[in-house]
Amino acid sequence: MLQERTMPKCRDCNQEWTFTVLEQALFAERSHQNDPSRCPKCRANRQAKRERGETRGHNAREERIVHKATCSQCGGEARLPFKPREDRAVLCSDCHRKARLAG
Ligand SMILES: [Zn+2]
Ligand SMILES: [Zn+2]
Repeated sequence: MLQERTMPKCRDCNQEWTFTVLEQALFAERSHQNDPSRCPKCRANRQAKRERGETRGHNAREERIVHKATCSQCGGEARLPFKPREDRAVLCSDCHRKARLAG
């Protein structure tokens, strides 16, 4: 028979917390062998942080998309951090440097 239990200090917030009957049942259902070392709030926080972290990583990858265009000088591949405009000549990094050096 499950009973509500007062658990020792949570690893994250250092507070005693109540392991409710419902929670114990859920925990057993997920076949966790050991008692949780964090209160439900801190466990939820950790879960949320993990999910946010994954989302952020995904977005960061998308922001780094490099637009490919054909260099108008050498015909090589130019990689741009922005979408090239139709009305502007595109230079690859090599030609861009040469153009700058030439003034
Ligand atoms: Zn806690
Ligand atoms: Zn070029």
